[in-house]
Amino acid sequence: MDIEIITTGNELMSGLTLDTNFRWAADRLTYLGFHLRYHTTTGDDEEAIINSFNIAEKRSKAVLVSGGLGPTPDDLTAEVASKYFGVPLELNDSALEMLERIFRERGRELLEINKKQAYLPKGSRILENFWGTAPGFQFDKGEVVFFFLPGVPKEFRSMIEEYVIPELDRKNKARKRHKAILIKTFGLRESEVAERLKGFQGTGIEIGYRSHFPEIHLRITAKAKYQAVANRLLKETKAEIVRRLDYYVFSTSGEMLEEVVGKLLRQKKMTISIAESCTGGLVAHRITNIPGSSDYFERGVVTYSNRSKEKMLRISHHLIETKGAVSAEVVECMAEGVRKLANTDLGIGISGIAGPGGGTVEKPVGTVFIGISDKSKGTFSKRFKFRGSREEVKLISSEAALDWIRKFILNDV
Ligand code: ATP
Ligand code: MG
Repeated sequence: MDIEIITTGNELMSGLTLDTNFRWAADRLTYLGFHLRYHTTTGDDEEAIINSFNIAEKRSKAVLVSGGLGPTPDDLTAEVASKYFGVPLELNDSALEMLERIFRERGRELLEINKKQAYLPKGSRILENFWGTAPGFQFDKGEVVFFFLPGVPKEFRSMIEEYVIPELDRKNKARKRHKAILIKTFGLRESEVAERLKGFQGTGIEIGYRSHFPEIHLRITAKAKYQAVANRLLKETKAEIVRRLDYYVFSTSGEMLEEVVGKLLRQKKMTISIAESCTGGLVAHRITNIPGSSDYFERGVVTYSNRSKEKMLRISHHLIETKGAVSAEVVECMAEGVRKLANTDLGIGISGIAGPGGGTVEKPVGTVFIGISDKSKGTFSKRFKFRGSREEVKLISSEAALDWIRKFILNDV
């Protein structure tokens, strides 16, 4: 069953608004096993909308139209649809009742301009809007079903869930059952991931790669006639992929790395503190983005200057002078210093050269040291060399730090 999405609106055509309705619907419908074949966008332009309906009707079995259902003069969709289908606009009693109810509940007067929304092409089925005032509608033209949905993303989404998916399901009995997961990895390049998965081929399995700097994500989809078969297929595939990618996988359920780290810290009842230089607080920011992080995160300090490293973390002036602020010795002292200051189980230190200036032959731009100090295991450090812009080096450094914390807690060091 070929499905087509038509999104309308001048704000989409002019690039002012990103077409997130399409992105969401395509993702959702594909996930459920529907086949999306075409996507068209038009402005609020009668001729263009008519043309798009005309083309869609010839090549698709279901057409989802978004936008232009509101009360303002630039909202043309119902009017254009009535012209296109060759039926008059008719006051729809349940649409009017719905509008009257909504306005009564909000204590607002129903104006003539609002009543415009209750006029639908004769013969359509109204789709009630739970989040806004503009009703949607369905119109069956021969074999082809048209859905008209509001442009407001929340309303658009809820109508797809509520009406479109059940209706498509009813009309498309042969749809395969799907189950998908998102596997997230860090530390391998896309080509290395592909290399490790080479020769891996399951019938009914699709693997989609997406690079989400600095991570590589894999969307694994299993398709089968029955849901139970799809589920089992996915479970087996997941196990095999995790076996091949090993500890580079940090989540198989779509979680963010900072979430995974947070869960581990909580599980082990560990607390953590962080002293950051080149990342400027980014690691602390990411950790504290997770609700409930106060259970394990004690403090983060940004010790950017040498002076702050000496004064706050009690690192010797001589050490910084001889080894340099970007060195294994200094990040180990940072990690240990902040751990003692905060009295936590773990302390992290990060220092590096984010660029674009400041690099040397020995320590080029992108050189980053990360230190971990553990109350019982001792203090360790690693040297990394990253590539990219200043922002990218900061981001990948924060990622490397979080990933090392994860592995450290899992005992892989
Ligand atoms: P309303 O009753 O609010 O007028 P409507 O059905 O007429 O709803 P539009 O006027 O086309 O919808 O759009 C309403 C809002 O939704 C606008 O802010 C618009 O930017 C946003 N919007 C419309 N289409 C999309 C889309 N495809 N993706 C993301 N946002 C969209
Ligand atoms: Mg509108």
